[in-house]
Amino acid sequence: MDMRVFDLFKIGVGPSSSHTVGPMLAARRFLLECPDLFKVRQVQVALYGSLALTGLGHATDKAVLLGLMGETPQDIDPASIDDKLSTLASSGIMHLLGEYSVKFDILDDLLWHKKEVLPGHPNGMRFTLTRNDGSTFDRVFYSTGGGFIYSEEELQQGSGSTTRPAVTVPYPFATMAELLAHGKRSGLSIATMLRANELVHCSDDELDAGLDRLWNVMSHCIERGLQITGELPGGLHVQRRAAKLWLTANDLTNALPHDGMHKVSLYAMAVNEENAAGGRVVTAPTNGAAGIIPAILRYYSQDCKPSNPELGIRQFLLVAAAIGMLCKKNASISGAEIGCQGEVGVACAMAAAGLTAALGGSNEQIETAAEIGIEHHLGMTCDPIGGLVQIPCIERNGMGAVKAITAASLALKSDGIHHVSLDQVIETMRQTGADMQAKYKETSLGGLAVHVITVNHAAC
Ligand code: SF4
Repeated sequence: MDMRVFDLFKIGVGPSSSHTVGPMLAARRFLLECPDLFKVRQVQVALYGSLALTGLGHATDKAVLLGLMGETPQDIDPASIDDKLSTLASSGIMHLLGEYSVKFDILDDLLWHKKEVLPGHPNGMRFTLTRNDGSTFDRVFYSTGGGFIYSEEELQQGSGSTTRPAVTVPYPFATMAELLAHGKRSGLSIATMLRANELVHCSDDELDAGLDRLWNVMSHCIERGLQITGELPGGLHVQRRAAKLWLTANDLTNALPHDGMHKVSLYAMAVNEENAAGGRVVTAPTNGAAGIIPAILRYYSQDCKPSNPELGIRQFLLVAAAIGMLCKKNASISGAEIGCQGEVGVACAMAAAGLTAALGGSNEQIETAAEIGIEHHLGMTCDPIGGLVQIPCIERNGMGAVKAITAASLALKSDGIHHVSLDQVIETMRQTGADMQAKYKETSLGGLAVHVITVNHAAC
């Protein structure tokens, strides 16, 4: 599988990996691939399908503009975004990749094709550059979830968005059955095999530094989310709850056995409130589902009091990545393609598997945990109200985190023998997503997105 741990876990900004991170990367890549940018007279961007339908709520417009300016999700300072965009709006001048100036009218040069879907994926974008002599250069890109982008040609060829040369890894796998077979033959854990695969690309120290950085960003995101109160942007008037509830979460007066689960929910919600506010998050595997893995990592490293949390966190991330890779390869991690089962469901499976590994579970128990995590999200739709990654997304991450602990607990107390394999449940997720009506796949044309707005309008 030509996928790395750091392809799956990407440091970026909220609120969406498919609608914010992917489009920002695509816009920048389009300009980098244009051979004669100095001759540019006009740049236009057209958004299609889910990007057009929910892009305003997901900040796709802002992401594309920032990408054209040369910004990347990983390096941009979230606090600088508003200034950059207001300078563009007031001047009408875009500095492409920070260098080449061109007139840019947000109303005329950024187009929303809400009734049209490009053939490759619901999240399509067409970039067109017109040169001074009237000739044009255009490219189509697709944002397929989790910050992955593909050009039209790459999607047709089934190749990835990475430009790395193909390499041979010691433990190649396209299914969980193959990974388990490697484990049986070698006697190695999934974490050890994933590490060996990664070491084809980097040194042990570089891998550990990269994994530690991911956890560092996740951890800071939880901390910020547990401190900041106020209203989230977008016009839904959703109040941030994690910080307010955190104030009393450690109060032992009248404590109940499930208070630990309450704290786990708050960790996850803290991350997703940061995500909804456009803050710094790690795709895990997407932004909409970014709260579950950090929540379970914090639960593991602080609440479970492990003897070597540093080691356990690294194992957790490697194993979680293996599950995410399988889901991306054999189904999807895009809400626009298969609904929320592919985002929160997959994140739950990744977290459950990671926790099982960190707590010493066998390869078979890891598979069981991941399978349970997906099985009980099958069919879950994506219907964000107002196209914002807020309702149901924030609370849904809290629920997904609690389910991940339950899945890991069931797996750890089992003998690893189970009726449904992970490969079977991933294929079931793929087929269920294919059968799901388009209105339930990140279009905000069905489900909660329609009914809550109808009720609110009636109340007005
Ligand atoms: S409902 Fe799920 S898939 Fe849809 S935007 Fe929210 S978190 Fe993502």
